[in-house]
Amino acid sequence: MPIDSNNLRYAAHLPLAEIGEAGQALIRESHVALIGVGGLGCAAAQYLVSSGIGELTLCDFDRVAESNLSRQILYRDTDLGRLKVEVAAESLQALNPDTKINTQANRMTDKDMQSIFPGCDFVIDASDNYGTRLAVNRSCLSLAIPWLMASCIRMEGQLMLLRPDLDDQPCYRCAYGEAPDTLEDCPGAGIFAPVAGITGTSAAYFALASLAGLAVPQGLHLFDANNWAWQSLKVKRNPGCKDCAD
Ligand SMILES: [Zn+2]
Repeated sequence: MPIDSNNLRYAAHLPLAEIGEAGQALIRESHVALIGVGGLGCAAAQYLVSSGIGELTLCDFDRVAESNLSRQILYRDTDLGRLKVEVAAESLQALNPDTKINTQANRMTDKDMQSIFPGCDFVIDASDNYGTRLAVNRSCLSLAIPWLMASCIRMEGQLMLLRPDLDDQPCYRCAYGEAPDTLEDCPGAGIFAPVAGITGTSAAYFALASLAGLAVPQGLHLFDANNWAWQSLKVKRNPGCKDCAD
């Protein structure tokens, strides 16, 4: 579908050699599933929607709590106790009426993923939960859908682009193996609010750039705010991996 020349919303993307009309059209035709609308997910969702993603499915079973408000910037005092996906959907729809927004307010199971993901072009896991992340890994592997692992804690962010739609790629379990079934939780370990925002907007970049057809670096990308440094590590396929080995 050609870009409506009367719609100036995306005017700043069109002169970019990297995006242009063709890239913007690809973004508009894309559907992203976002697992987790916490600090990282709130930041990612805003840039996905403001940039004109065609469809966004928000998945989160949690409700807005006061301790969320420092970094989960789609929520207000008046939203306390409400489902995050409902509040986020209202706020995001006001940000851009062009995007179709769906909500899923239960803890995501393999079955949910197998029903939602086939309609998606890209999945972002921002759940901070190892069990959910392994389930996303399994579903995206079986459906050959590209996805991004994104997490943040204290002063650090992590991003890993996974491409099961391409041949001979590592999966999430290849990189992490048998990690414990819990990740440290943000309220307990702490998270500096802007670090959640930096990681979330980076996640939006990885998704949008991938969907627009740009070459996006694979591997594991680590951000350390203390030294203001990014480090990128190559991840190799593990031939003995439980999830992706043939
Ligand atoms: Zn693997």
